[in-house]
Amino acid sequence: MRVLAVGAHPDDLEILCGGTLARFVQEGHEVVMCHATRGDRGSFVHSSEEIARIRDAEARRAAVICGAEYATLGFTDGEVNAADLSQQRAVVDLVRDARPDLILTHSPGDYMGDHNEIARLVFECSFYATLPLYETDRRPHHSSVTPIYHIETIMGLGFQPTEFVDITATIETKVAMLEAHESQLTWLRDHDGVDIVEQMRTTSRFRGQQCGVAYAEGFVPCLTWLRATTRRLLP
Ligand SMILES: [Zn+2]
Repeated sequence: MRVLAVGAHPDDLEILCGGTLARFVQEGHEVVMCHATRGDRGSFVHSSEEIARIRDAEARRAAVICGAEYATLGFTDGEVNAADLSQQRAVVDLVRDARPDLILTHSPGDYMGDHNEIARLVFECSFYATLPLYETDRRPHHSSVTPIYHIETIMGLGFQPTEFVDITATIETKVAMLEAHESQLTWLRDHDGVDIVEQMRTTSRFRGQQCGVAYAEGFVPCLTWLRATTRRLLP
């Protein structure tokens, strides 16, 4: 399978589904990790351009640790907007390039707008990507409306998983992927007062205990028409 994971910011995928992405890679699937924004508004010490460069390098390193392909859309933090036509075209192109059999993206009820707008953008644009007359530079149109699984919200608040993936074997890879985002570990400590690695480990452990393994990640399938399937798509 080809798996396309789309997160709002560099580090979201690592926090919310990094263990599952690592499992996909280990089981021989191709994974594209795409973050939508440049991560250019979260720093007390760097300029926007500086922090965007740093975070790009960190995201590339995390993708290498996972064994995934890296992609970004270059949006600005806080300006993700599902109604923006140029952003829609960017996501259509992303889907046409990645040709996914499965898409993982944010849950629509997460803690900040960029995450929720990405959920909507990916939902709409993975459909538009299949329309031959939605013309962009990328050809051809994608062959089918791709199943979507929503990843957790941050700390799992307001999110009730219906499917679990055992990430006991990949939790240390997930930690290494997240630790590649060095600038974020500092930013989230100083801005939000959290040790994001510890927080991620705790959530993964919590999900693990919910389904009888050491560490897990939770998901909810998007069950609209054309997206439902009888096959288990998650590892
Ligand atoms: Zn985020």
